[in-house]
Amino acid sequence: MIEKVLIANRGEIALRIHRACHEMGIKTVAVHSTADSDAMHVRLADESVCIGPPASTNSYLNIPAIISAAEITGADAIHPGYGFLSENARFAEIVNEHDIKFIGPSPEHIRMMGDKITAKETVKKLGIPVVPGSEGGITEDEEARKVCKEIGFPVIIKASAGGGGRGMKIVKKEEDLSTALNACRTEAKAAFGDDAVYIEKFLGKPRHIEFQIIGDSYGNCIHLGERDCSLQRRHQKVLEEAPSPVISEETRMHMGGVVAKAMANFGYCGAGTIEFLYEDGEFYFIEMNTRLQVEHPVTEMITGIDIVREQIRVAAGEKLSYTQDMVRFFGHAIECRINAEHPFTFMPSPGTVTQYHPPGGLNVRCDSAVYTGYKIPPYYDSMVAKLIVSGYTREGCLLRLRRSLEEYVIDGVTTTIPLHQELMKDPDFQNGDYDIHWLEKFLEQKG
Ligand code: ADP
Repeated sequence: MIEKVLIANRGEIALRIHRACHEMGIKTVAVHSTADSDAMHVRLADESVCIGPPASTNSYLNIPAIISAAEITGADAIHPGYGFLSENARFAEIVNEHDIKFIGPSPEHIRMMGDKITAKETVKKLGIPVVPGSEGGITEDEEARKVCKEIGFPVIIKASAGGGGRGMKIVKKEEDLSTALNACRTEAKAAFGDDAVYIEKFLGKPRHIEFQIIGDSYGNCIHLGERDCSLQRRHQKVLEEAPSPVISEETRMHMGGVVAKAMANFGYCGAGTIEFLYEDGEFYFIEMNTRLQVEHPVTEMITGIDIVREQIRVAAGEKLSYTQDMVRFFGHAIECRINAEHPFTFMPSPGTVTQYHPPGGLNVRCDSAVYTGYKIPPYYDSMVAKLIVSGYTREGCLLRLRRSLEEYVIDGVTTTIPLHQELMKDPDFQNGDYDIHWLEKFLEQKG
């Protein structure tokens, strides 16, 4: 059905999508900025089009240039990857208006979930548990005080249009509420062009647990279990694992069933992730991502299901290749995000990679677009590789991960590999005993 896919992204994910396409016999078109002319995805794609100068706003976010590239090359579908235009409902609409298939959910679904207030209201109606907090947006101090009295301090004020860990403020006591509310609204307006904010109970020691789902246009929706993404720095994920060390088989199937049923009723078509905070045995929805996620490979490693392939199938109007009964979970997988940054201060370290040698062996996967001689440009996200390793047990997986990190050579730039190596030695991490605040404390000790 789909014959040629334009990949509207760069780096490892562009390569990841290219690989799925070629395995399906689909041709690929790479688009790139002038800074990425020598990128791996550009070299491997069947065709490539330069869409602008280095700055993302002029290239990877340049909708007219991307649509033109699709028309010139005759691409019949666009895969947006993650980041950039992947959750831009207007982009999805424009793609559809040009009779090109958007590999992702409908623009309406992207729009609803992109606004966190609407998202929360929507999933609540679908039977998914949410974090206690304000019903909708908050503008008046009086309203804010009333909500906080009900739920109790500390609270977190969040921008409805926020994302990427930005636009959040924790408030510990009533005296600080009014100032924080005003600051959050002003910052949200400046950063996202929308000053709508809402209030939630701030959970003290939750884990971040998310469920991968995928639906087709025939009303089917399946879940592929959970990922534990509690290891975060500044609300950004650093390492992810599946299954979560604290979720039982019974809980997985129960909660997975709840989200899959909700999304089937919603009529959701495409891959998506429902994110929860999990504390004292309870799940609290925080947001839904209507796209492929960075950490999707850990789910692929324990299910054997190619999520990008399924995304392409359902976008082409085909049925999912799997029913829920066919989904089997085996072993344990962990992903380390490797950034070109100082491992403990996180100072970016762009530059030329003088030697690149990824680890190999049984159950070791490296998703990266880096090669010896590659110049990491300073304009984009600093993640340069994902090391994903699986094992029969979590213990076995950790042994293999330690060995793989030892083997990984990325010379010429500083990377976060030493941070992951330190993590591997930590008893709490080894025991799976951590919450969303654990990594920040760990880093303070290292600092
Ligand atoms: P973003 O869209 O910016 O990623 P999320 O709503 O997904 O924002 O939240 C990101 C992270 O912020 C969560 O993984 C968690 O670490 C923290 N967080 C969000 N909401 C709460 C809350 N109510 N209590 C405690 N921590 C929270």
